Amino acid sequence: MNCPNCGHPENKVIDSRHIVADNGIRRRRECIKCQKRFTTYEYITLNNVFVIKSDGSREEFNREKLIQSIKLPCTKRPISINKIIRIAKDIGTKFEKDGYAEVKSSLIGEEVIKRLKKIDKVAYIRFASIYHEFRDVTEFKNEIDNIEKNK
Ligand SMILES: [Zn+2]
Repeated sequence: MNCPNCGHPENKVIDSRHIVADNGIRRRRECIKCQKRFTTYEYITLNNVFVIKSDGSREEFNREKLIQSIKLPCTKRPISINKIIRIAKDIGTKFEKDGYAEVKSSLIGEEVIKRLKKIDKVAYIRFASIYHEFRDVTEFKNEIDNIEKNK
């Protein structure tokens, strides 16, 4: 894994811990060249799943990436990192177990939306607007109105 700061390929692991919520391993690494520290996560993959992005390109499903994309709309919301990790794990294993070889990124987005909607309306709206999952402005407005009504 190359350093995100300088691109150097060698690093040393300075801390390693089991994430129970996820049965994963989190490692703190330090670049041996620039000493920049970064974190990597390791998970069991049942079946390799490829994500097809909206531009048609494909890449291997990456749970860490999914965690990052869920984290963003959850900023300053009462949602613990463990909850976010669980959502990403849930979605990942769902597709892996189902034996999907390829899954559209929009389908993953829908899965995130479904789950965020249940736990936090604000995070849900943010995620949906970031990933343009709303078909049009009216739909977006309706969702906002619904939240206002249910306050
Ligand atoms: Zn470096």
